[in-house]
Amino acid sequence: MTTNLLDFDLDGLAAFCERLGEKRFRATQLFRWIHQRGEGDFDRMSDLAKSLREKLKTCAAVQALAVISEHQSSDGTVKWLFDVGAGNAVEAVFIPEDDRGTLCVSSQAGCAVGCRFCSTGHQGFSRNLTTAEIIAQLWYAEHQLRKRLGTSERVISNVVMMGMGEPLQNYAALVPALRVMLDDHGYGMSRRRVTVSTSGVVPMIDRLATDCPVALAVSLHAPNDPLRDNLVPLNRKYPIDELMDACNRYLEHAPRDFITFEYCMLDGVNDQPEHAQQLVALVRRHARSGVWCKFNLIPFNPFPASGLHRSAPQQVAAFARILSDAGIVTTVRKTRGDDIDAACGQLAGEVQDRTRAVERMAKRRTIAIQPVGLPTHSNNKEA
Ligand code: SAH
Ligand code: SF4
Repeated sequence: MTTNLLDFDLDGLAAFCERLGEKRFRATQLFRWIHQRGEGDFDRMSDLAKSLREKLKTCAAVQALAVISEHQSSDGTVKWLFDVGAGNAVEAVFIPEDDRGTLCVSSQAGCAVGCRFCSTGHQGFSRNLTTAEIIAQLWYAEHQLRKRLGTSERVISNVVMMGMGEPLQNYAALVPALRVMLDDHGYGMSRRRVTVSTSGVVPMIDRLATDCPVALAVSLHAPNDPLRDNLVPLNRKYPIDELMDACNRYLEHAPRDFITFEYCMLDGVNDQPEHAQQLVALVRRHARSGVWCKFNLIPFNPFPASGLHRSAPQQVAAFARILSDAGIVTTVRKTRGDDIDAACGQLAGEVQDRTRAVERMAKRRTIAIQPVGLPTHSNNKEA
């Protein structure tokens, strides 16, 4: 059986190498070749002993994901669609900015949470991605972009687990993937620059705090339980007060001293002044210290099956003002890549939903493969 080496964090790779009778420093060398150099061919790993390379060839491989398509937006955003087998595909999106390069990574094919405003949620759930499938998105994007830009410097400085899927419902595969991102022998990212976004899986927020504390974003979307029950069905299991308590506990371990609350602005649904006032009251009620959270308002990215609409810019601005006037740091997310359906919540990929397969058959779309040029991004500085 061939073992995919993208499945391992450094400890996992060391254990694998030990089983082959190799010392830990060999695993470190191998890990660096794979993640820092983007090398998948053992024969080219020139400082590894020939005997080890031969051994690896018999039992291991660096198995990337097949790329089905790649689209580039006029704003430099690049979206890849990766084949994960059995009719499923997942998406990753690279978002270049002046001071950073962010990769938005998927954790599942589909999603079981089923939020009303999310195109992934509408597709239902097919399966969890493996650690290798999560890391393969970063491995491919980073080394592909470096090649195109003709640089050996790091291009992707930040990762957000905001692609398809609920990362905390795929915890066992997520944590080793995060460790590869953070490892100095891997991608060497700072904990503050790796963000897990969750719809609120309370017990797993607590586990993440001890296992691998990275920046946390919580998709709130509503200031009270009846509305949140309706928009984010997981709220029926973990209601808002429990979620707020978990956020406060997380802060004791978090690399940043605030939690980011994401709030998708839905016209006439959750965007009224009274909703903003309820949020202010909620934040104050749960504040253990002064500034403990920030809000990121996301203009809804519509898709036909949702039946929902984007709030008008004045509505978003008025909502933001109520929060800011109450001392809550609030930003409005700029929409990127919407000309290639790469904006938040538009990541649909291709999911063979095991729970709703028949319904989905009718909706399946064909995938366009378009040639792309270079991303306009050329800035990869660490802030
Ligand atoms: N499952 C995780 C991470 C993936 S979703 C979560 O829900 O947090 C990433 C972000 O995109 C979430 O904040 C989600 O609420 C938001 N989102 C989903 N659909 C959207 C849409 N149609 N328009 C704008 N944002 C959306
Ligand atoms: Fe799943 Fe997040 Fe989409 Fe909700 S918003 S359905 S949790 S991917």
